[in-house]
Amino acid sequence: MDGTLYVVATPIGNLDEMSPRAILVLKSVKMIACEDTRETLKLCNRFDIDTPLMSCHEHNEYFVADKIVEILKRGDDVALVSDAGYPGISDPGNVVVNRCIEHRIKVAVVSGPCALINGLVGSGMDAQHFLFYGFLDHKQGERKKELIELTKIKNTIIFYEAPHRINESLEDMLEILGDRQIVIARELTKKFEEYLRGSISEIMTKIKAKPIKGEMVIIVEGAKPEPAVSYSDVEVLEMVNSYIQQGMSTSDAIKEVASVTKIKKNEIYHKFHQN
Ligand code: SAM
Repeated sequence: MDGTLYVVATPIGNLDEMSPRAILVLKSVKMIACEDTRETLKLCNRFDIDTPLMSCHEHNEYFVADKIVEILKRGDDVALVSDAGYPGISDPGNVVVNRCIEHRIKVAVVSGPCALINGLVGSGMDAQHFLFYGFLDHKQGERKKELIELTKIKNTIIFYEAPHRINESLEDMLEILGDRQIVIARELTKKFEEYLRGSISEIMTKIKAKPIKGEMVIIVEGAKPEPAVSYSDVEVLEMVNSYIQQGMSTSDAIKEVASVTKIKKNEIYHKFHQN
């Protein structure tokens, strides 16, 4: 029997959020694969976990994935953790999970904190439908391209961002997405947890006056539907007449105006013939 790969979510700042199941699993497995052994050692010391650690970060994940599969194939269980939150969410983990799936090894996820979920729920923004984007590219040209692709998304969008890039990211968001409502959720689950709410320009002014530090999630409202354009009867009739003068038949002119104005053909027909 193969072992199980346990993908274990860990606290995003407040160690009291470590779940009893996560502790039990980390104690029971043969090996813990972790992003940074120093960070995971702190967690293990706090909860008396003495399971051996192996390092699994973005630069060695492909190589370590094979080692993890070897251990699992011997019948031993392995846990995978990142420095905080869920492995695989803007963190290494996806390669190991996929390697296990390829080898038909059971993958079990142990639930826990996740910055995007805490930030979204506390933001008060529409959480029924949302898009998690993670980190924008750190090169401005690429970042702007990414934002342009997001302009039409109607759902709440969630970004992760580093404190030293917050100003430039907000500047690009303002230029490309417009002055939307946003929430910056920072230091979640920690002593100085804070939600800054307002339009992008308001938040920029606030944080220029008082720079913010620490880890942060940016929650941005989705694109608003474009306001429907309304046309007066006179404008509609002028459009029909202008198409007719250009040589169109009356029925083609009405059809064309209906397609431009999104007014029903019948309605335009009645307006035209009542005149
Ligand atoms: N795997 C993690 C998760 O499940 O949320 C995310 C790891 S990613 C490398 C780190 C980013 O997550 C930070 O730059 C920040 O955007 C966000 N983050 C992590 N912890 C946070 C916290 N306590 N408060 C606010 N944002 C946090």
